[in-house]
Amino acid sequence: MTDVGWVALVGAGPGDPGLITVRGRELLEVADAVVVDRLGTEALVALCRPDARIIDAGKAPGRQALTQDQINQTLVDLAREGLGVVRLKGGDPFVFGRGGEEAMAVNADGLPLEIVPGITSAIAAPGAAGIPVTHRAVATSFTVVTGHEDPTKPSEQTDWDALARTPGTLVILMGMGRLASIADRLIAAGRPEGQPAGVVQWGTLPRQRQVIATLGTIARAAADADLGNPAVVVVGEVAALSPEIDWRGFRPLAGRSVVVTRARAQASELSRRLGQLGAEVIELPVIRIAPLAEPPGLMSVLGRIGDYRMVVLTSVNGVDALCARLADRGADVRAIHRDARIVAIGPATAARLEGRGLRADLVPDAFLAEGILAALDGDDLTGVPVLVARARGARPTLVDGLTARGARVDELELYEAVADAPDPDRITRALDADYVTFTASSTVRRFVELVGPDRAARMSGRAVSIGPVTSATLRDGAIPVFAEADPHTIPGLVDALCRAAGGDGQ
Ligand code: SAH
Repeated sequence: MTDVGWVALVGAGPGDPGLITVRGRELLEVADAVVVDRLGTEALVALCRPDARIIDAGKAPGRQALTQDQINQTLVDLAREGLGVVRLKGGDPFVFGRGGEEAMAVNADGLPLEIVPGITSAIAAPGAAGIPVTHRAVATSFTVVTGHEDPTKPSEQTDWDALARTPGTLVILMGMGRLASIADRLIAAGRPEGQPAGVVQWGTLPRQRQVIATLGTIARAAADADLGNPAVVVVGEVAALSPEIDWRGFRPLAGRSVVVTRARAQASELSRRLGQLGAEVIELPVIRIAPLAEPPGLMSVLGRIGDYRMVVLTSVNGVDALCARLADRGADVRAIHRDARIVAIGPATAARLEGRGLRADLVPDAFLAEGILAALDGDDLTGVPVLVARARGARPTLVDGLTARGARVDELELYEAVADAPDPDRITRALDADYVTFTASSTVRRFVELVGPDRAARMSGRAVSIGPVTSATLRDGAIPVFAEADPHTIPGLVDALCRAAGGDGQ
């Protein structure tokens, strides 16, 4: 916490979390408190410090939204407490965002203020649908207007007649409620009925939808397509360019929702990859990785750590936990015998080892216990002291297999997957998603426990598994396996999903 508080009005961009500015992100990462409008900015909130206070100024279930005055006051109060406050606002803070009022309140109080612009939906949502707001020889200007005001009422501040006569593109925000009367009014004032017009809902987000029609037909077309808020309306010749410029179809998971059931601390790589391919990612961490407080046999294993001639690590968590335990004793990886063979179950584990200064001597071709055994097939393991560092509850395959080959195996259980309890709304959302990914048997078991066998049984065509062990657990839970990764890695899982999903649409 800083002694002197500050407030930054940060534009979150139009929706895709990748479209925040670098400066905006930096501030989010250090803020003590973050005031958001709605929980839709979830992916950005995930960037905040875990101990940051997150205040939802928008409507939350069972709670009224804060009034503008209350928001202004909240910003001032938090900063006066000495907190660094980010006020995260959709799009750009100064485009119909009441950012000006918030900035004035902060300044009036003499508190340090920073404004971080954002990419406004007025440009980004059309762009995401392949509509450039200007285009050579088609439109040399664009006007952004709020459609919030009733065009049929005399008290209006917006001069629709003038807008109808103004050449160039007309971009209307907050116009969905009055789309029909706005279109009528523009036509009455001289915009051609046949002029192209488009509506883009949830622009830049995976759930983006759009229609292109004419000014005369756009209200009906949007209603028929069931488009609602938030949406941007574009009136002008540029709207007709959409079919030629539209680019979102190149993202293979665009418009698909995918659930990530991994523990929150591990979800990011999978979520990021899925998001890059256009998927709407729903994180539903059903388990959490917890280090064992007192791993059985820990002291004796660490005491003999230099005696092992082979150390097998079966996950990234195992690497972290082993290093943490060594560190607890004031030691590091040098305590491991210099000639010990280091075996990593797969490339992610090997990469984590490398990050700790240890190179894996062996990574099997198949990233499974069976793969490790197969890779050691020609080796004489008789009497070789082996340490297998792993999770509680892991399959005995590896230890049994090594023991059967004559190795003297010590197992060290370092951590366990414990049940996490996501909120029921999120579980419901996850069950509505197109696909659900599973990266370990523990997540499958917990998922089935959470959703119950009936709902699990209805998951046909949706479960995506990292490999045969996880798939077997899915089948045990009566969940049909839609796709299985090969190789059994996160990138392998994403590939398998894309291939399988490609077969049924897009
Ligand atoms: N400051 C914001 C606008 C706030 S007003 C900005 O610069 O984008 C809210 C309106 O913005 C919505 O009613 C809708 O018209 C538009 N809007 C915001 N996000 C949008 C999105 N992802 N797709 C389409 N329209 C969006």
